[in-house]
Amino acid sequence: MPPFDVPEGHPFGPHNLPYGVFSLSDSDTRSVGVRLGDHVLDAAGAARALGSPYAALLAHTTLNPLLAAGRTAWSDVRRALTAWVTVPSHRETISPFFHPLDSVTLHLPFEVADYVDFYASENHARNVGQIFRPDSPDPLTPNWKHLPIGYHGRSGTVVVSGTDVVRPSGQRKAPADPAPVYGPSVRLDIEAEVGFVVGTPTRMGHPVPLSGFRDHVFGVTLLNDWSARDLQAWEYVPLGPFLGKSFATSVSPWITPLDALDEARVAPPSRTHDLLPYLDDSAEDPGGYDLRISVAVNGHVVAEPPFSTMYWTAAQQLAHMTVNGASLRTGDLYGSGTVSGPAADQRGSLLELTWNGRDPLDLPTGKRTFLEDGDEVTLTAWAPGANGTRIALGEVTGRIVPSPQ
Ligand code: CA
Repeated sequence: MPPFDVPEGHPFGPHNLPYGVFSLSDSDTRSVGVRLGDHVLDAAGAARALGSPYAALLAHTTLNPLLAAGRTAWSDVRRALTAWVTVPSHRETISPFFHPLDSVTLHLPFEVADYVDFYASENHARNVGQIFRPDSPDPLTPNWKHLPIGYHGRSGTVVVSGTDVVRPSGQRKAPADPAPVYGPSVRLDIEAEVGFVVGTPTRMGHPVPLSGFRDHVFGVTLLNDWSARDLQAWEYVPLGPFLGKSFATSVSPWITPLDALDEARVAPPSRTHDLLPYLDDSAEDPGGYDLRISVAVNGHVVAEPPFSTMYWTAAQQLAHMTVNGASLRTGDLYGSGTVSGPAADQRGSLLELTWNGRDPLDLPTGKRTFLEDGDEVTLTAWAPGANGTRIALGEVTGRIVPSPQ
């Protein structure tokens, strides 16, 4: 039976309605879908059957046309979808357009334009500073409290949840080694992050102010920024992450619209430094999101990072990455940076959880410092909704397969 009886309190209930792209097992045709419970609704098919004016906007093989349509359209389509799945008179018409999740293949839901990754958790930045610069008087770099640090990543290697991750190879050189060696990474790690998906583009020379965040950002996805620490440590000075990151970035197949997360908005941590006006959010609506993330390795939860602890908000990140006049494209994706809370079991990377390998994790599948071939990492998250409900984000999972060399 189609999931009309999914209760309001279900984490994928009618108050959530994330968007994805699916194909049926007997077809190569990709369609925009909306998740309800353990089913996916063929959104364009339902729209056509109901004579909806949004049928053309939804009849595509990626979410990009919907993303480009802008905030008014996003709200209108969401309102329509909510009615379709909750008003009893629509049931008979849309029933044929529901498919059980286990009968479909989920695809990368949007064509990724540019990809940027930030470094917005103060706990993470302090942990990394202490691990890599133990002799430095301050684990934070002098710029950290003044701007959200980021770098441009590789959009072409953003993959959907469930895609295997091939262990990357590259150069590594420990400080005491006489020369670098080439080979498969021996310090393969994860970074638990939240990704923000840009819908409405901008023209070059037109920065997006803090107040423009909701006009340009469509929604969020869980994101795993796979990281080869040994490659990264040798290559990153002075220009930042490169091959240690660019081999794969995994995202959820479901994009949760910002409109579903209104109840989860929270104030970010108090600011310790005055901010330049374009980043000063003291008079803005709360820019943080209360997202409770879980990180599991081979099914065993190793950390529960709280996104509400992030120092820099997604609105500040968007303002910063456009303040120089750089334009936005529909499908731009930016990652929050590793989410790490203040407690030891809230750290969003193995680098921090094992303190660079010093303190191995004792998992049911064996001790781990970094990832072994065959390990599977899964990120899940939920946010508080109205009246005590939960909004689940789509999970992102990936398994490490051996290097071919
Ligand atoms: Ca990262």
